[in-house]
Amino acid sequence: MKRTTGQDRSITASWRPATQAIRAGTWRSEMGETSEALFLTSGYTYDDAATVAARFAGEEDGMTYSRLQNPTVQMLEERIAILEGAEACRAQASGMAAMTTALLCQLSAGDHVVAAKAAFGSCRWLVDNLLPRFGISGTTIHASDNAAWEAAIKPNTKVFFFESPANPTMDVVDLEFVCALARKHGIITVVDNAFATSALQRPLDFGADVVAYSATKMMDGQGRVLAGAVCGSQDFIDNVLLPFQRNTGPNCAPFNAWVVLKGLETLDLRIHRQSENALKVATFLEARVPRVLYPFLESHPQFALAKKQMKAGGGILSIELDGGRKQAHALLDALQLVDISNNIGDSRSLMCHPASSTHHGVGAETRADMGVGEGMLRLNVGLEDPEDVIADLDQALAAVGL
Ligand SMILES: *Cc1c(COP(=O)(O)O)cnc(C)c1O
Repeated sequence: MKRTTGQDRSITASWRPATQAIRAGTWRSEMGETSEALFLTSGYTYDDAATVAARFAGEEDGMTYSRLQNPTVQMLEERIAILEGAEACRAQASGMAAMTTALLCQLSAGDHVVAAKAAFGSCRWLVDNLLPRFGISGTTIHASDNAAWEAAIKPNTKVFFFESPANPTMDVVDLEFVCALARKHGIITVVDNAFATSALQRPLDFGADVVAYSATKMMDGQGRVLAGAVCGSQDFIDNVLLPFQRNTGPNCAPFNAWVVLKGLETLDLRIHRQSENALKVATFLEARVPRVLYPFLESHPQFALAKKQMKAGGGILSIELDGGRKQAHALLDALQLVDISNNIGDSRSLMCHPASSTHHGVGAETRADMGVGEGMLRLNVGLEDPEDVIADLDQALAAVGL
């Protein structure tokens, strides 16, 4: 393998994000391929027994087994790390593999976690159901309320865990305040940055310790594969995350890593266009539905904060209807262009009813607590011409009396 300038941090760190997203992390084989090579291999061979011993002893760099290293996956890890401004990154099989690994690698029985109430359903399930089984307690709070973070801290609080913007309520968390508070108390912040991605918001720049991703969403960007990533300091990745990951195996498959590498090449283009489209759609919807939740609308309760910490509002918005589940389902059924789908980050516009899909599993009580109502719909605004998306929403709203 030949290292390209893409492997040299002293060079890649000075590139702008759109350049990093295309070139950072690239290795080339002897063939000189332009597009990254896909190494579909689980194992590696060695010239002699001494080489195996040296690699396992950590005395020599090189591949040993794809649960530990894979060249395609490593290209993705380096690219995500440089985009995020992180010292290191490890790719994961999915966003949930990333969240589970980021939490379990550093928590032990007796520890306490403070987490945002409003979160992706499975993230909330981890805090409410999985962690307690291992003796790790959790307090869930309204994450946009700075005072609530401070009030929830206990002597054994080890981790703050939240998303911003949150799925699907679009609550925005004050990254600078919450991360500084955590630092003061020796607490590690784990930020799920799936909605914004590094192209719109880099939590580490605001003092976060760990950024965890569903790369399935905006990073792939075309709805093809599941993948995830955890970014942090070299010390955290090597000494806290890696011992857990290499022995439990939530690794990203090389094929999926390759697809995400291709997706990242257009991340900057896509997320800015999707943000522009989403703002147009959100503005149209504001005149037609009781409530639109989108960080870059002036009506968003944390509009000023969103403007401060995000470069654009992202491709996702939620709306609230007064007619409950019945009207929300009727609107979905009236769509002709926008698909009914619970995925996000896709180039296609997709709409779902969180209460009966992504947030079904957390239960009605938790949904009410986190602000996911029966009349809420979440819309991923894709890369289609926004006028066509607006026309479809226009006819579907009319069909349900709005
Ligand atoms: C989708 C999503 C996840 C889970 O990611 P998968 O790749 O589906 O496992 C976690 N957090 C957020 C905010 C998400 O949107």
